[in-house]
Amino acid sequence: MTLPALLGGPPVRPQGPPTWPQWSSSVASVFAQLVATGDWGRYHGPHGAALMAALAESHGTEHVQLCASGTAAVELALRGVSVGPGDEVILSAYDFKANFTNVVLLGALPVLVDCRSDDAQLDVDQVSVAVTDKTKAIIASHLQGGLVAMAALRELADQRGIAIIEDVCQAPGAIVDGRPAGAWGDVATLSFGGSKLVTAGRGGAVLTHRPEVAQRMRVYNQRGNEASPLSEMQAAILLPQWQQLDVANQERSAAVIEMRGLPGMTLFMSAPRSVGLDLAVDFQPAYYKVGFWYSAAEYAGLSRERFCQALRAEGIPLDSGFAGLHQTHARRRFRAVGGLPQATRACASVVMLHHPILRSGPGPGIELRQAVDKIRTYATMLRDAQPDDLCGT
Ligand SMILES: *Cc1c(COP(=O)(O)O)cnc(C)c1O
Repeated sequence: MTLPALLGGPPVRPQGPPTWPQWSSSVASVFAQLVATGDWGRYHGPHGAALMAALAESHGTEHVQLCASGTAAVELALRGVSVGPGDEVILSAYDFKANFTNVVLLGALPVLVDCRSDDAQLDVDQVSVAVTDKTKAIIASHLQGGLVAMAALRELADQRGIAIIEDVCQAPGAIVDGRPAGAWGDVATLSFGGSKLVTAGRGGAVLTHRPEVAQRMRVYNQRGNEASPLSEMQAAILLPQWQQLDVANQERSAAVIEMRGLPGMTLFMSAPRSVGLDLAVDFQPAYYKVGFWYSAAEYAGLSRERFCQALRAEGIPLDSGFAGLHQTHARRRFRAVGGLPQATRACASVVMLHHPILRSGPGPGIELRQAVDKIRTYATMLRDAQPDDLCGT
């Protein structure tokens, strides 16, 4: 076996990680049309309307509004369900940073709960412990290829009269407990940011079936002029990507199946938690990132950071997961429910693969396994190498 690329051997993927976005003939032809019609410079027109209709249809939600980013979408969603000063909003301590910031921005208190030990997703049992009479909303983010147990969460939220913001920025097109991800929440949020599965560089959307929530979001976003708009140009290039999303998601899922059973790198395992559902039909993750639990013990104690560095040197885009919201914010900013042991563990040991590699040729799973095997064979050398001895970084 050759040396790992970080120690000077030949990388598994000499061409490096795939670029994103990948070339798309349908997006290319939309660009040509935009130029020919002048639609690239319009405020309003058929493209935004067509995108909203497609999103409404995919999710079975009546009201769709486009906006400038996923972060703006989460803010709109919180405003849509009337979160304000004095309210509490429950979210996982292992979540996207800006979700916490948005809650604070509105004067509400983030209430951090633990995540699950199998898939690092929001733990619905912990949510039920966290609810008080001040709880206004729960943010449920489907993260890194996992899916929150939405049927159970919906039941809990309905019993207690709490709104769910379902953050689908990482899981567009996924199916959870038999419904499209995004169809469970009072409001769902999407992102069309530059790294996301469906991208216009920037952009986002909110979806809801509740007219009064849609009205509040609209009033806030259209304060005399649109404050957080998505352009016709963006909408036009998003539509063909949305139409091709299911096929792309299936390809990505097929690649992830080949990544099961890697040593010391265990895939997040979400499973339908409602009885009577069909695993293949009612439960389909989408992979913006592929989350794994890294176990340094399988690699002679090699640190997670150097393990990721070694894979990146092989041309495989692997990074550490999120920093914990409970670890990056002052205690007075939030209330924590319990000791958050799983979130702490997730922050210390999750690694995540970035999605473009899942659709780059026939064997992303084989490449990953080759790279991991090399790193495991040379784990001690990698662990003991001085920073100056490392190559390809
Ligand atoms: C990317 C992301 C967002 C924010 O989207 P932007 O468009 O980058 O603002 C929100 N939530 C999650 C879970 C995300 O991954």
